[in-house]
Amino acid sequence: MSHLFYQGRGRKPVLEQARGVYMWDREGNRYLDGSSGAMVCNIGHSNENVLTAMRRQMEKSTFGYRLHFETEASERLAAKLAGLMPAGLSKVFFVSGGSEAVESALKLARQHALATGQDSRWKVISRTPSYHGCTLGALAVTDYDPLSRPFAPMMREMPKIPAPRAYLDGLDPDDPETGRHYADMLAAKIEAEGPETVLAFIVEPVGGASTGALVPPAGYMERLREICDHYGILLIMDEVMTGAGRTGAFLGCAHWGARPDIVVMSKGLGAGYVPLGAMIADERLVEPVLDAGGFAHGFTYAGNPLACAAGLAVVEEIESQGLCANAARMGEKLKARLQALMQRHELIGDVRGKGLLLAFEFMADRTTKAPLPRALNAHDRFVRIAYERGLIVYSRRTRDGIEGDHILVCPPLIVNDTHLDEIMEGLDASLAQFTAEIRPELKA
Ligand code: PMP
Repeated sequence: MSHLFYQGRGRKPVLEQARGVYMWDREGNRYLDGSSGAMVCNIGHSNENVLTAMRRQMEKSTFGYRLHFETEASERLAAKLAGLMPAGLSKVFFVSGGSEAVESALKLARQHALATGQDSRWKVISRTPSYHGCTLGALAVTDYDPLSRPFAPMMREMPKIPAPRAYLDGLDPDDPETGRHYADMLAAKIEAEGPETVLAFIVEPVGGASTGALVPPAGYMERLREICDHYGILLIMDEVMTGAGRTGAFLGCAHWGARPDIVVMSKGLGAGYVPLGAMIADERLVEPVLDAGGFAHGFTYAGNPLACAAGLAVVEEIESQGLCANAARMGEKLKARLQALMQRHELIGDVRGKGLLLAFEFMADRTTKAPLPRALNAHDRFVRIAYERGLIVYSRRTRDGIEGDHILVCPPLIVNDTHLDEIMEGLDASLAQFTAEIRPELKA
């Protein structure tokens, strides 16, 4: 009997050890971590330099409350992050995870509005589908029905616009008109809500779990910025999954030269070594809030020195090993190989993503883009088949209305060609087994 409980009653193998891209359970079974946990372990498991930095910090101090002390670890990590952000984003607020980072961004945006005499602004527009966290504030800007529906009465409903799923709408993702078409939905929503009531727009540069590695169409990011500027609303870039090199650049939004007002990071920043997140804001937002009396928000563990020392060592590893470039290079190879897999496995309807944030989506029919029936529970079944073969991948079924299952393939950024071969062998065999299982049920 276990005293732990998470989503369901199912028991999992007990993790014994993890090194690089591999993990072993207590029975001695080996797994290739093809999803970096939940897109977390960007630099791989048990990196010796990070462990050394953590040991050094532990010998100095493991906790200093932020209202009593500054710490060298948090100061250094903040300076490091500021140097990796777009110009102006120089103010860093540490937290312990992605949801906390999103909550912090929403609250800073609101406090900035209050500090600058814009009290009527409070609505935060987001996309459907989307995932920004599971605390009630972050959940209010999330559109992922299974997690948000039970709590709807406890949250203030926030406006949503459709994510730019050009592949479903039959639009050319390389045509800037497509980007403009989807981004203009933001302008229309702001107008409908009343521009004076809108505070911010929150978006992932490349969609994560919710949309399955959705890459925005040409022109989308640029147009979003124009619209935000026009209406005086803040652009919050959720880089919780895309940040720390995942898409082949330190920040996902860098691919489009985007200029967010606030960036939120977590997952790859602590890289699984420690719970760590950060909100990095434009100094123009922070100064008026500090002038007006300070930021009315904070978590006990904010700026924890052990977490920050680990985070700094993680970022240094990303830099010294050239992991952004490796993610870009290996990501291109892996994406091409996933695309080639479509020829052998007709249930794959779409392959997409950037860097090592990659996904494929199952479809019953590529032409009509019909999803597999929900009752098949295809994504869970595929993940289980792959897991039994020693390959860990991540999945969701979220496409609202049309519904669909996607599988995220997101190994640590340290992967080499041999690892890619192993991932592809695991996927190919798992897809064959999955198709054999699913086919009779599809015909039934
Ligand atoms: N934003 C995004 C884009 C995420 O992917 C996640 C986690 N999947 C979160 C926020 C929430 O992060 P956490 O689970 O660390 O609270």
